[in-house]
Amino acid sequence: MRFRRSGTITIKAKNIALVAHDQTKPELVAWVGSNEALLQPHNLWATGTTGRIISERCSSLKITMLKSGPLGGDQQLGAMIAEGKLDVLLFFMDPMTSLPHDVDVKALTRLSTLYNVIFACNRSSADFIISSPHFEGEYQRTQRDVSDYVQRPI
Ligand code: PGA
Repeated sequence: MRFRRSGTITIKAKNIALVAHDQTKPELVAWVGSNEALLQPHNLWATGTTGRIISERCSSLKITMLKSGPLGGDQQLGAMIAEGKLDVLLFFMDPMTSLPHDVDVKALTRLSTLYNVIFACNRSSADFIISSPHFEGEYQRTQRDVSDYVQRPI
């Protein structure tokens, strides 16, 4: 259920995105495998390659696949965030490899911050998120008031 009070969205079943860079895909797949039952009640999205690999290992999960990250999948997630359609982003990042789509990852990080999306970029943070009572229960996600910015004099 999703409903809005002024400045907050109350969420129970969360819209969750799963993404991992190539070097961290095995770690995310293992993490999803060990949390499959907890993830099942939620709505899952993933970038193309990450989603395909997770689906092969965790057949009980229904995952909506986006494009591969470097082909626009990260930007598709950014659009979901801007439209208020994503609550949780679990993006296992590789801090040791320079990637062609670094700018897309940076944009996704910025939008997650702006829209107060629940965001983990490594396994420990994902463990904390999934073990939080808010994960299964209701959570009120505060929305930043951007009216001053929208109505600024130009
Ligand atoms: P991929 O994209 O799941 O298609 O590999 C992830 C990424 O953004 O690098």
